[in-house]
Amino acid sequence: MEPRSSCDLAIVGGGFAATVALLRLAARPVPGLRVVVVAGSERPGPGMAYAALGDLFLLNVRAGRMSADPDRPDDFQSWAGCADPDAFLPRRFYGDYLATRFSGACGQVRSAGVELSVLPGLATGLEVTPTGAVITVEGAALTAASVLLCTGPELKHAAAAVPGRWVDRPWPVALEQDRALAGAGVVIGTGLTAADACLTLLDRPEVSRITAISADGLWPQPHAACTGPVVPPSHALRSPLTLLRHLRGAPDWRAAVDGVRSVAPATWQGWSAVDQRRAGRLLAGIWNRHRHRLAPEVLARLEAAEAAGRLLRRRLLVSAVHARPDGVRIETGAGCLPADFGVDARGFRLEDGRGAGLAAGLVQAGAARLSPLGIGLAGDASGLVTPRGLAPVRAVGACRLGDLLETTGVPEVRAQTVVALDAALEGLSPTGKQEAGSRRQHLAG
Ligand SMILES: Cc1cc2nc3c(=O)[nH]c(=O)nc-3n(C[C@H](O)[C@H](O)[C@H](O)COP(=O)(O)OP(=O)(O)OC[C@H]3O[C@@H](n4cnc5c(N)ncnc54)[C@H](O)[C@@H]3O)c2cc1C
Repeated sequence: MEPRSSCDLAIVGGGFAATVALLRLAARPVPGLRVVVVAGSERPGPGMAYAALGDLFLLNVRAGRMSADPDRPDDFQSWAGCADPDAFLPRRFYGDYLATRFSGACGQVRSAGVELSVLPGLATGLEVTPTGAVITVEGAALTAASVLLCTGPELKHAAAAVPGRWVDRPWPVALEQDRALAGAGVVIGTGLTAADACLTLLDRPEVSRITAISADGLWPQPHAACTGPVVPPSHALRSPLTLLRHLRGAPDWRAAVDGVRSVAPATWQGWSAVDQRRAGRLLAGIWNRHRHRLAPEVLARLEAAEAAGRLLRRRLLVSAVHARPDGVRIETGAGCLPADFGVDARGFRLEDGRGAGLAAGLVQAGAARLSPLGIGLAGDASGLVTPRGLAPVRAVGACRLGDLLETTGVPEVRAQTVVALDAALEGLSPTGKQEAGSRRQHLAG
């Protein structure tokens, strides 16, 4: 391994959360602080969700809620020059916005005296010791006093990728790269990621038909005007059953679901492990279909493809996937489904907390715990996942699913990142702060 470099704070990941962290740091800089961003292998800012795409793909959250700047809630809307806060803008715009804000925040942070480096490439190892975390990046070691883990969903797959036959990275950019996909395909999943995958594939004339399969065989509900979030009365949040009754009885389900979303992490954490498991059985399907909503234009395109017979939807449970150079066989409760190619579009699943990636590596090394349900990392309110006595690692986003429930959308990840970054800066050792202070004096001199 190459010689070590060191920093006070390492931000691992170069997507939305990393952009929020840099914007927050730009607004509250600590001159002399040494910060390294390990930005991944793609263009910094957009991540996979918002990488270059055609206008076919729209955001599934309204423009007015998509700001990356914690201090300017309308930042995205004004950057996009969009008068309507309720519009669903192309995801491509949002990728450009994040790339602009990422590089702009880097410039501001540096001008304020923070020593910032952005390293391209993936972190392949994260080892935590009492004195610091050692991150392996492209064969070199980086030591950090504190780490902010912003790596997004690190997926666990049903089978390894086979070019032209089996796609384990369902994002549109990855699908577009595999030009050999042709004939009749199966997309596993009917959520937002699966909807994107179907539309990307159906745009190709060489794809004859897609069958989308999932346990309930239903698309998410579409967005529509609603009366605004209606925060539920506390008695409705007592248990999964009372919550289910509340949602079923609500005059405007969108307003009711949005109201529950705003109190979801606290409610979830207040439930026992037994109730959390019960909620998984009673509510997961309903919640996923009603909370994650499609832009109405996107649902209309899916329905048009179904009416034309190029898109089928089936209710099937997948038990195994066999991907071979001559095709895929997907085993389901109702028999085997052969296809020319298949796509795993289940997105981040509950069991993924045990999967691959840096977060799972921390658990395997005993440096972090799984959440009580065994889903994602357990952490405190600031996202701290390492125990006292080890260098602080704070995690935000998808890998906190088990603890927080609502942890993948922009509004939630933005709020988590602000708290985690502030706590990381606050917690830097007095020595680190003194060093930063003396570097600041040196810079001023
Ligand atoms: C297809 C799709 C559409 C979506 N649409 C919306 C939407 O419209 N509205 C909404 O609110 N949310 C949407 N989301 C949710 C989305 O996950 C969040 O908006 C947001 O991107 C989460 O930010 P993040 O930083 O946690 O993850 P990401 O933005 O995904 O960033 C993770 C970054 O970490 C990098 N990385 C991963 N592993 C490593 C490693 N080992 N070393 C270094 N870097 C690493 C990745 O390359 C990436 O740059 C969508 C998600 C998907 C997948």
